[in-house]
Amino acid sequence: MVSRADTSILIAGAGPTGLTLALELARRGIKPRIVASSDGPVAESESRALGVNARTLMLLGPSGVADRIREQALPIEGLQLSSLGEPLLTIHTSILHGQTPALCILPQGTTERLLLERLRAFEVEPRWHAKVKSVDGDPETPEVTLIGNDDSGETIKPTILVGADGAHSIVRNSLDFAFPGEALENEFFLADYAYGAPVDVSHARVDFTNPGVLGCIPVRQNVLRYISTLPDFEDRIAHPHPPVEQTWKSQFTVSFRHVEAMSKGRVFLAGDAAHIHSPVGARGMNLGIEDACWLAWLISEGREAEYSQLRLPAVRGVLRQTKMLTALATMERPAALAMRNRLLPLMAHVPFAERSLVHGIAGLDTPHPPWIARTH
Ligand SMILES: Cc1cc2nc3c(=O)[nH]c(=O)nc-3n(C[C@H](O)[C@H](O)[C@H](O)COP(=O)(O)OP(=O)(O)OC[C@H]3O[C@@H](n4cnc5c(N)ncnc54)[C@H](O)[C@@H]3O)c2cc1C
Repeated sequence: MVSRADTSILIAGAGPTGLTLALELARRGIKPRIVASSDGPVAESESRALGVNARTLMLLGPSGVADRIREQALPIEGLQLSSLGEPLLTIHTSILHGQTPALCILPQGTTERLLLERLRAFEVEPRWHAKVKSVDGDPETPEVTLIGNDDSGETIKPTILVGADGAHSIVRNSLDFAFPGEALENEFFLADYAYGAPVDVSHARVDFTNPGVLGCIPVRQNVLRYISTLPDFEDRIAHPHPPVEQTWKSQFTVSFRHVEAMSKGRVFLAGDAAHIHSPVGARGMNLGIEDACWLAWLISEGREAEYSQLRLPAVRGVLRQTKMLTALATMERPAALAMRNRLLPLMAHVPFAERSLVHGIAGLDTPHPPWIARTH
C-alpha cells in the first residue's frame, strides 16, 4: 500500500467524473492535480446530461453539492409514455423517496460549475487547456506527457493516475485497456427549444412513433429538449407555445461498451473513459460520479486495488438496463411494437414492476456507498 502522504494523484479530465473525484479527495484532505484539454466546464446551453438521480444526490450530500443542486434543479414527477399520442403508461418517479425525487433535471454545465465552485473552496483548480498526449511506461509507474495550449510539454510521474478523460480516453487507449462492445445502427437527433413563457416541466414524455421515438425532456422552466431517432422529428413536435429560439441542436450515435478491468497497476479509469451507453435512462453522468466517489473513498482508505472488482458489477448492471430500455424505445418489427404497446399499459397494475424501474432510474440498483449512513 502507498502511504497517502506520499501519494501524488493526477486526474486526467475535468468533466463531472474528474471534478467529483477531485472534490471527494480534497474534502478528505488529499489534494490531487487535475488537468483537462477543454477550456472550462461545458457550456450551460449545450448540455448533454440533464438527469441527476437520487443516488448522485446521496453521494454529493457530504460535499454540500447536493443541496446546491436541489436549489436549482427541476424535480421530475413522472415519465409519460404514449404511442402516436395515445397514452400508454405514466411512471411515477416520486414513488420511492418522500423528499428526494428519483430524478431531477439540471443541465450538465450547471452541475459541473457547482462541483467546481465547491472544489475551489479546497484550493484545487483544474489546469485547463492541458492535454494528456500519451501515457508511457509500466502501469505501475505511469509517465504522463502533457501538452499545454502554447505547445509546452511536461512529463509527470504520478503515484496514481486516473483517466476521467471521456469516451475517447487517451489514458485508456495508451495503456491498451480492451473496450469491447457494440454500436447501435440508429442515429439520435436532439434539439432544445426556448419558449417565451413557462412550459410544463413536471414530466418527461416519450411518444413511440412506431417505429421510432420522440422524447421531450424539460431543461429549464422555459426550455424543452426533444430527442428522437427520426431525422424529420422537428416536423412532428407539438410545441406548447411558438418557440423563440433553438438553443442547441446535435446528433449522435450510441455504443454500449465497457472496459474489462477498470484499473491496471496504478492507473484507474472512471466515467465515460470506462463505460459508454445510450442516454436512455439518464445513467451516464450519474454512473461516472458514482465511480469517482467510490474511487476517492477507496484511495483514502488505501484500498484502491479493490476498485475494479467493486465497480464492474454495477457498470455491467447499468449497461444491461440501458440496453434493454434502448431496445424497447428503438424496436422496429411491427409484431414487437404491437406487443410492447399492449404490455406497457398493464405495468400500471404491477406495482412491483414500476417500483423496480423507478429504483433503476433513481440509480439505487447499485451497491449502497458504505461511507454514507443509510437513512431508511
Ligand atoms: C445527448 C446526451 C444526453 C445525455 N443525458 C444524460 C443524462 O440525462 N444523465 C446522465 O447521467 N448522463 C447523460 N449523458 C451522458 C453524460 O453526458 C456523460 O456520461 C458524462 O458527460 C461523462 O462524464 P465524464 O466526466 O466521464 O466525461 P466527459 O464529460 O466527456 O469529460 C471528459 C473530460 O476529459 C477532458 N479530456 C478529454 N480528453 C483529454 C485529454 N487527452 N487530456 C486531458 N483532458 C482530456 C475533457 O476536456 C473533459 O474535461 C448524456 C449524453 C448525451 C450524449
